[in-house]
Amino acid sequence: MITIALSKGRIFGETAPLLAAAGIVASEDPDKSRKLIIATNHPGVRLLILRATDVPTYVQHGAADLGIAGRDVLIEHGGENIYQPLDLNIARCKMMVAARPEFDYIGAVQQGSRLRVASKYVNIARNYFAERGMHIDLIKLYGSMELAPLVNLADVIVDLVSSGATLKANGLVTVDEIMDISSYLIVNQTALKLNRAGIQPLLDAFSLAVSKK
Ligand code: ATP
Ligand code: MG
Repeated sequence: MITIALSKGRIFGETAPLLAAAGIVASEDPDKSRKLIIATNHPGVRLLILRATDVPTYVQHGAADLGIAGRDVLIEHGGENIYQPLDLNIARCKMMVAARPEFDYIGAVQQGSRLRVASKYVNIARNYFAERGMHIDLIKLYGSMELAPLVNLADVIVDLVSSGATLKANGLVTVDEIMDISSYLIVNQTALKLNRAGIQPLLDAFSLAVSKK
C-alpha cells in the first residue's frame, strides 16, 4: 500500500488533476467527506487528509510514503528525513512583508531600527531579517495576521499573498518580497529506498503531468 498525505481545499483542488494524470482518482471528495483516510480507484494507493502543516510530519515518520506540501510549510517544518524531488508548481503565491501604509519600512531598514514582526512563519521571518542584519522582536501568531499592524501588536507581518485582496481589505500594503512559494511532492527517504518499485512510477507520472501543464 502506498499512502499519500494531502490537505483539503486549495491543495487538494490543484492536486486532483495531477493525481488523475497519474491514474489515481479519489473514491470521494475530501472537501465533502469527513473521512480522514480516503480510498482511490487504485487498490494499492490511499490518501490521508491532514492539516497542511501536519503533512511533512506524517511523511517524516513514514506514516505516509508521499505527501504534497507548500514550500512555506516545508521550511517551517525543517524537512528531516524528507526528500523533495518535484516542484508541482501548484498553490503558487509569495511570502511577503506587509505593513500599514503609514509605516516607513524602508526608513526602518536603513536606520537599523528594531522591527516588531508578527507571523505564523517564524523560521522564514527570523532567517530573512537575520540575513539582512536586522534585529526583530518576533511574535508568533496562528492566523488572521492582518490584524496585528492595525492594533499596533506589530510593525509588519510576514504572510502569504496571492491576489492581495485580504491585505487590501484590511488597509495593508506589501513592502518587501521574501520568496516565491509553491507546493512540492515530498517522499519519505526510507520508503523510497525500500519500495522504489512501487513509488518511482508515481514520481515519474507526477513529473510528466507537471511538465505537460
Ligand atoms: P488553515 O487555513 O487551515 O489555517 P493553512 O493556511 O496552513 O491552514 P491552506 O490555507 O489550505 O492551509 O494553505 C495550504 C498551502 O497552500 C499553504 O501552505 C501554502 O503553501 C498555500 N497557500 C496558502 N495561501 C495561499 C494563497 N493565498 N494562494 C496560493 N497558495 C496559498
Ligand atoms: Mg489558510
